Amino acid sequence: MIDEVAEVRAAARSLAEEWLATGGRGRADNWARGLDPAFSKSLAAHGLIGLTWPREYGGRGLGNVARLAVTEELLRVGAPTGAHWVGDRQIGPSLIRHGTERQRAEFLPAIIAGEVVFALGMSEPGAGSDLAAVTTRATPVAGGFRVSGRKVWTSNAHRATHLYLLARTDTGERKHEGLSEFLIDMDSPGVQVSPIRDLAGEHHFNEVLLEGVVVPEDRLLGVRGRGWQQVVGQLAFERGGPERVLSTYPLLAELLSAGLSLSPAEQDRLGELIARLAALRHLAGGVAKALDGGEAPTREAAGLKHLGTAFETDLAEFVRDAYAATGRAPSPLVWDALLSSPGFGIRGGAAEVLLSLIARQEARA
Ligand SMILES: Cc1cc2nc3c(=O)[nH]c(=O)nc-3n(C[C@H](O)[C@H](O)[C@H](O)COP(=O)(O)OP(=O)(O)OC[C@H]3O[C@@H](n4cnc5c(N)ncnc54)[C@H](O)[C@@H]3O)c2cc1C
Repeated sequence: MIDEVAEVRAAARSLAEEWLATGGRGRADNWARGLDPAFSKSLAAHGLIGLTWPREYGGRGLGNVARLAVTEELLRVGAPTGAHWVGDRQIGPSLIRHGTERQRAEFLPAIIAGEVVFALGMSEPGAGSDLAAVTTRATPVAGGFRVSGRKVWTSNAHRATHLYLLARTDTGERKHEGLSEFLIDMDSPGVQVSPIRDLAGEHHFNEVLLEGVVVPEDRLLGVRGRGWQQVVGQLAFERGGPERVLSTYPLLAELLSAGLSLSPAEQDRLGELIARLAALRHLAGGVAKALDGGEAPTREAAGLKHLGTAFETDLAEFVRDAYAATGRAPSPLVWDALLSSPGFGIRGGAAEVLLSLIARQEARA
């Protein structure tokens, strides 16, 4: 297994370096905002997407530790991985757990080939931290469902081929009941995407309006009404990866190679950051091993996300201060990182919500 991990790490590193050598420009947070279908296809051609999936669907049947090695290498250089990230990280595993054979056969090989791009349609104006409050409705009609509602903060929806959607199909006694998951073609009539500009003025988020969108029955993912139980499984994959630690890592590499002279106090801060990074990598390894062991490490993933996103922001602020102390203008990477950092502790679960989740699980343990 160690050999397989080393082999895929070396393959990812070599592709990442080739990408840099041929003009690629690493950015902070580029796993989420940078979308380059050609780069994703080159990873696909080397078998680096769908690493953990069964061979019968074109996967490599490797463990999450191997996937961790690949994702670390891509994050290390700030490569643009948004075209395949969501499909590889959580839609594929969700299809493997809950999809029909037909859905698996349609989507898994296409994700592995870098041919489909998924956006996540979870959040709504009144349902973010309280995700179970979604009001988007999927009403049963002959042959499928008619969907109406509004999703917000949908990253990369303007470049996606498909939308994962959490919607309400039934009314239950509790808001967590009656939710269902769907896979929707972005070019379906009635899907309207409008940009929401972020702090940097970039178009990364969207509002997605769904007006009477007809979704065939075979695009229901899993069991009708079990959407909450299913989506919770997705969140462990969404929170437990190294992208919650390494979004600003390219700054550290750049700082170390820029030869800035650091004061003793700054050297102490840098030492502390590097020690935190080592501890976070250890935690990420633990989450990957737990997933490989068939566990659902919800609490560990939440803890990694909470501590990791604090690290990402602290690192960006440290590098900003280090440049300021020398009077040298910071590189564009620093601006990228600072402007995207307010979102780190919110997306994928706000800090307070994760801490409550950890505390609740701790109390139950
Ligand atoms: C960069 C980025 C990318 C995103 N991409 C996507 C995407 O692709 N798809 C998608 O569906 N969504 C996406 N989101 C949305 C994200 O999931 C939500 O912003 C997040 O869940 C918080 O929801 P909210 O914005 O509605 O804030 P709210 O839920 O209104 O929370 C606001 C604040 O209130 C506090 N708070 C809320 N509830 C509690 C509580 N129970 N206990 C204590 N404090 C609480 C927290 O401080 C929280 O930050 C993205 C967000 C960001 C920042």
